[in-house]
Amino acid sequence: LIQLYIPLNFLGVLYREIRQALTDIERMFTLLRTEREVQDAPDAVELPAGPAGLRFDNVSFAYDPRRPVLEHINFDIQPGHTVAVVGHSGAGKSTLSRLLFRFYDVSDGAIQLGGTDLRKIRQASLRKAIGIVPQDTVLFNDSILYNIQYGRPEASHDEVIAAARAAQLHDFILDLPDGYETKVGERGLKLSGGEKQRVAIARALLKNPPILVFDEATSALDSKTEKAIQAQLEAAAKGRTALIIAHRLSTVMNADEIIVLESGQVIERGSHSTLLAKNGAYAQMWTLQQQEESMLA
Ligand code: ADP
Ligand code: MG
Repeated sequence: LIQLYIPLNFLGVLYREIRQALTDIERMFTLLRTEREVQDAPDAVELPAGPAGLRFDNVSFAYDPRRPVLEHINFDIQPGHTVAVVGHSGAGKSTLSRLLFRFYDVSDGAIQLGGTDLRKIRQASLRKAIGIVPQDTVLFNDSILYNIQYGRPEASHDEVIAAARAAQLHDFILDLPDGYETKVGERGLKLSGGEKQRVAIARALLKNPPILVFDEATSALDSKTEKAIQAQLEAAAKGRTALIIAHRLSTVMNADEIIVLESGQVIERGSHSTLLAKNGAYAQMWTLQQQEESMLA
């Protein structure tokens, strides 16, 4: 029994780690042949192609029933609009994206995409429609080309290069010994946090999905590279339904709505200017960050 228990327990731990990392999950499931915790309903439907609105309807969630992580979250993203979520670390921001990708089901309330409850949508179809730049990117121990192309395996070489350019990665790749064929990971190149993040951005841009989620997508970049990519991300989000989770507020100023999350609850919401005028938590965060930036400048 012990012999059986240890590897299974090991897989359990590994599985949770992987789920946290958001990407690469489909391939990992195949590799591990693990049962998914979240199953397709027998009558699950395909998500129709094209733009879709997103709604969090009174969503509550807890990883552990003794400790609520999200409480009664309500927001709507109209097709083609951008909503930003800001708040301190641990507020529950990344959990929103995990629920949207349906790594977990909500404990209460519902999430709807294009008016359909997530629990009624085929997961393959859901994951095809959403492009996520996760907070922590996991790469395959394969070539850079493979890692970017994973976003859309049928993309042409030119499209891959365009995505790499947009993510400020192309010149860096050309300087590598084997260019796009350079292996990342164990026996190849070890990428920095910022480089991995840019691979994830290139992957999401290449995927070109109707719904985009950026979870602190530029947090590991220096401010010059961040500025350069920011414009590309904003361009990518145009006309798409976008959920932008951010720590640096300068990246969310232009969102249609900004939601301030604290301890799993919405404490403020509105446009950048409304929130500044309110002189509350958002305004405080803004002032603090402006001071930090002027100190660094
Ligand atoms: P944020 O992205 O705003 O920093 P998260 O959504 O990652 O916050 O986490 C919200 C809360 O949920 C934190 O208190 C965190 O410790 C907890 N949490 C995150 N992942 C798990 C997990 N897999 N199991 C239990 N608690 C978790
Ligand atoms: Mg987070």
